Amino acid sequence: MLKNFPTDLTHWYLKNKRDLPWRKTKDPYKIWVSEIMLQQTTVSTVIAYYERWIKTFPTIHDLAKAPIQTVLKQWQGLGYYNRVKNLYKAAFILINEHKGILPKDPQLIRSLPGFGPYTTGSVLSIAYDIPLTIIDANVRRVVMRLLALNGIADTKQDLKVNKFLLKVLPARGVGDFNQALMELGALVCRAKEPVCTVCPVRKYCEAYKQGKQEIIPQTKKKVIKDIQAVIAIIKKNDHYFIQQRPSTGLLADLWEFPGGKIEAGESKKEALVRELKEELGVQLKSSKHLFDVKHFYTQFRVNLSVFACSTVAELKTDDTHQWVSFKNFSKYPMPSGSAKIIEKLKFFLYK
Ligand code: SF4
Repeated sequence: MLKNFPTDLTHWYLKNKRDLPWRKTKDPYKIWVSEIMLQQTTVSTVIAYYERWIKTFPTIHDLAKAPIQTVLKQWQGLGYYNRVKNLYKAAFILINEHKGILPKDPQLIRSLPGFGPYTTGSVLSIAYDIPLTIIDANVRRVVMRLLALNGIADTKQDLKVNKFLLKVLPARGVGDFNQALMELGALVCRAKEPVCTVCPVRKYCEAYKQGKQEIIPQTKKKVIKDIQAVIAIIKKNDHYFIQQRPSTGLLADLWEFPGGKIEAGESKKEALVRELKEELGVQLKSSKHLFDVKHFYTQFRVNLSVFACSTVAELKTDDTHQWVSFKNFSKYPMPSGSAKIIEKLKFFLYK
């Protein structure tokens, strides 16, 4: 029954696939870069980043010899910075131990930073046609519908999903087959309103037969946390004070303005006083509210209240605390929330 499933799906893909820059190459390095960028980021956002990245670091050698600050700068705005740090670390290892060539052995690849089962499967199957299955959110949803599996689309489904994939994985053209499954999930078997009428694998689909395609997988309500934070813009002779975040944890190594989360029961002013004391060891002298910036992350949304501040004592500079002119902000990799603040500051008279 499933004999023609891979050919039906792959034929559809070859005719209907989107024209994306990373689909024009078989260079394992470029495919790897695109796969890392596409994790947790939409295709439309990744295109410009990918093209810029490949211009700046056309080969793995160019990436490995670039300073980390340049690499982080190229990534700025894509978020989830561990992805780029692992990419950078893995590039070093590949240069030193594998002459800059991505090995074909899945075990070896899995030992590199940032290579989980998904990335290993996608890069090796697309670049080298190695028969490995891949499961991402699109693939999981498509297979759950094909098999009419109950439950929400989480990793608990993956044993069953993978068992099915192993049954239908073709001996050749695995890269196209894997991409076809993902493309089907993105364009046809979408999370909301799947377009079953144009689906190339409708005749194999149990959810379609049972009329359950809209209710498989079940959905779970996302809990989004609201965070309030204060940000201090401290200016001296046309320079602004910024600091580098610690090298582990959320947004590690990125640069930002001083400030932080407002604790329960605290006013914005009290939070500013506490943050400047804790982070910089100085006392707040004056503060004036400038504007608010909202920024959305996957698990929370944050409201940043931005204040023009002055401090009682002079601020000390070192490797992780700097005075930076407006035009030099672009040299410092920053989280998207801080980049939004700079955009707003541009149109504000506080320049
Ligand atoms: Fe998805 Fe509908 Fe195709 Fe089934 S028939 S795989 S539900 S698009």
